[in-house]
Amino acid sequence: MSLLDELSARQIASGVQAGEFSAEEVCRASLDAIASRDAELHACLQVLEELALAKARELDRDRAAGRALPPLAGVPLAVKDNMNLIGSRTTCGSRMLEDYESPYTATCVQRMLDAGCLPIAKTNMDEFAFGSSTETSHFGKTANPWDAERVPGGSSGGSAAAVAAGEVTLALGSDTGGSIRQPAAFCGVVGLKPTYGAVSRYGVVAFGSSLDQVGPFGRRVEDVALAMNALLGEGHDPMDATSQDCPVDFLEHLEDPVEGLRVGIIADFIDAEGLSGEVRSAVLGAAEALADQGAELVDVSLPNVADSISAYYVIGPCEAFSNLARFDGVRYGYQEPGCATLAEQSAKSRAHGFGAEAKRRQMLGAYLLSSGVYERYYHKAQKARTLITKSYERAFEEVDVLLLPSSPRTAFKFGEISDPTQMYLSDMFTISSNIAGNGSVSVPLGLGEDSGLPVAVQLQGPAFKDRRLLTFARAVERGFEAEGRVAPAFAGKGGEL
Ligand code: GLN
Repeated sequence: MSLLDELSARQIASGVQAGEFSAEEVCRASLDAIASRDAELHACLQVLEELALAKARELDRDRAAGRALPPLAGVPLAVKDNMNLIGSRTTCGSRMLEDYESPYTATCVQRMLDAGCLPIAKTNMDEFAFGSSTETSHFGKTANPWDAERVPGGSSGGSAAAVAAGEVTLALGSDTGGSIRQPAAFCGVVGLKPTYGAVSRYGVVAFGSSLDQVGPFGRRVEDVALAMNALLGEGHDPMDATSQDCPVDFLEHLEDPVEGLRVGIIADFIDAEGLSGEVRSAVLGAAEALADQGAELVDVSLPNVADSISAYYVIGPCEAFSNLARFDGVRYGYQEPGCATLAEQSAKSRAHGFGAEAKRRQMLGAYLLSSGVYERYYHKAQKARTLITKSYERAFEEVDVLLLPSSPRTAFKFGEISDPTQMYLSDMFTISSNIAGNGSVSVPLGLGEDSGLPVAVQLQGPAFKDRRLLTFARAVERGFEAEGRVAPAFAGKGGEL
């Protein structure tokens, strides 16, 4: 039995502080877990053994010298491979950046390290975060820990799977349209997309700059709350102009009662075409769990929110096209050898460095931003965005939180969805909160009655009320038995502590 499978982030940090075990022992337990579990899973692209052990030994030395340790001392952390960390490559799951060494460390990663986390591994992802299944990675697929024939979701599939399989306790992901919440739902872990601007994106490779947000995965809400304390602790990051000062101490109100608070249920979402019966009944079960704790369920409508996917697949590709123009075969990444001219080098490097989905997004963006087309689509999408944002603002005048599915169904099989537009529909419930910018979290609800795979609920709160959002998430968690669970095929396999 691996204690790493059992212990929460708080228990690890307090155990290290109290000398019950050393940070190095925790580190080795995590590395052992990866050694015995990741061959099957392929959640990790690089295991940072030396970096992690060095950090663990530093913590053990500090403790030996009588210093108080930081709040996440010794907690194993995995980092999505679109975040820079000195001493690691940052590949974005792409051939384009296969050999790219991080020139500096992203603020979000640095803050987790400052809080005491051990940088155990960089995790697999859809290429440049385009996707919902982690199947588009240049480095191969990641398996879902609950069923190795199924996808872990995406694009942060490696981070979600690493946490679900007990390889690490916490992981960082990024969410532009659902890439934290959907893999969290598929893997049965908690995944939070904080409000846009809450967490610094400095050092995170940009996809859609008006949509991207970094957030944590954990097996319990409390772990995610502690990660938020670390991510927000020092407030505004001068290196990311969109980053804001946000309230900290996510633990303070975590156990607050939800009695008397209002939970909005959106009929259009609960009765949405394409929503599977088992997810629907699990979501209604979560609503009931909140009602049992005294919350009031209120029917609300979110006009225009149905346009979110259309708006996203205009705004997202336009921003991606602009952001990925920097990969020109000269300045960064893959360089096609033997080209006669700069133009040829750029064209061939891009043609051979990017995979199919990354090309599709960029071509779509190039087209949508061309003159004449721009007004018809980009302008219109921005207008839709304003309406969607207003719709949310009005809803949050009536309710404290919205309750909806995270994903329309449970994890699908590899290769099952080959049509890109079908894949895009995986995000039908998550994209609107990237469009509006408000915080949202996926909370596991145990296993679905039909598939036996993880099912989840999504909670969305008003902008910059992420702390209260986690109070609701905790209230839902209390009503279910999913808390802290490692996928059974992996629990206890290797990683003795
Ligand atoms: N699946 C969505 C997309 O492919 C969202 C991806 C993300 O959030 N990074 O665009």
